[in-house]
Amino acid sequence: MHTVHVPLDSRSYDIKIAPGLIDRFGRECARLKLGTRCAIITDTNVGKRYAKAVFNSLATAAFLPSLIIVQPGEQAKSLKTVQACYDQLALHRLERKSFIVALGGGVVGDLAGFVAATYLRGLAFVQVPTTLLAQVDSSVGGKVGVNLKSGKNLVGAFYQPRLVLCDLDTLKTLPDREFRAGLAEVIKYGIIYDARLFAQIERDMSKMLKREPRMLATVIARCCQIKAEVVGRDETDGGPRAILNFGHTIGHAIENISGYGKYLHGEAIAIGQVVAARLSHKVLGLPGRDVERIENLFCRAGLPVQAGLNSPKRQKLLNAMCLDKKVSDGEIKFVLAKRIGRVVWGQRAPENQINQVLDF
Ligand code: ADP
Ligand code: ZN
Repeated sequence: MHTVHVPLDSRSYDIKIAPGLIDRFGRECARLKLGTRCAIITDTNVGKRYAKAVFNSLATAAFLPSLIIVQPGEQAKSLKTVQACYDQLALHRLERKSFIVALGGGVVGDLAGFVAATYLRGLAFVQVPTTLLAQVDSSVGGKVGVNLKSGKNLVGAFYQPRLVLCDLDTLKTLPDREFRAGLAEVIKYGIIYDARLFAQIERDMSKMLKREPRMLATVIARCCQIKAEVVGRDETDGGPRAILNFGHTIGHAIENISGYGKYLHGEAIAIGQVVAARLSHKVLGLPGRDVERIENLFCRAGLPVQAGLNSPKRQKLLNAMCLDKKVSDGEIKFVLAKRIGRVVWGQRAPENQINQVLDF
């Protein structure tokens, strides 16, 4: 088993990564010295596959679990669902020492985390991420929250889980498209932080696509470790944590202008990272060879690398980028790469250069 420690003083916690973890979930929770009552929050897709095993594992360890099932998909990340969860928690008499289990992908993690952060001013929170994206990204860093009609993730908190268990067996049932989308975040860690990881992914892409557990365990652990290191230096954003947003300013704008739903997040940031690599070539002199390697790797992962935008759409994209959270004082700041494994944040780029790299 791989264990990654996330060092955040009194809020430190471990991420455990291995196959078969759900079966010992109850025992792992017992070590945390939490109350008896708990609620598992999951969605219908994940619930039908794994809720029973999680429930039984908790019950065997003498916990009193209840089950809250929400609809799958981004729509569930709403205040309406939060309200419904609160009502269920009250019905099941959860109390201050009770805890919440998030069983599912990023959507369930963000929603359940927000519910945990706010119900009774905060219940302990344990995560069982079941998508590749959630295992390498949303389970580290403590960002929880929901969407409003006016935008994604506008209401939320920083709230750290007490434990994260990544059961690699759950990835076996993940739809292919979702798995590939998760790889976009995996590749990102190579670009922003670790040239060796990038080279390893280049070498082992076909094994990764076959979801070989041993290979996945090493790579997922390395991604979590990188995110933990970055977040450990900057828990609440605003500083070095910005490097995690490589490809995201453009990626979010692509999600936004194409109407949420056309691209999965991972697909949009695959395009975003290729565009950011091209921009890095112009602004910071990222070698052309590195731009090629980046583009090739996303292609091999079966991810889109271009959005095919006509000129009015490009203008729309630029406008959308200006509305992004990362814009301060009206200026778009990018995370750009100097070389694979090394990026810098807070980079400005002239609009004509942005336009040029979008034009492909
Ligand atoms: P993400 O983690 O990418 O943010 P979601 O939480 O929206 O994504 O999950 C993506 C989709 O995959 C949802 O429809 C969810 O129900 C489904 N899903 C999540 N984990 C699994 C799994 N292990 N097996 C099958 N389907 C899953
Ligand atoms: Zn992302």
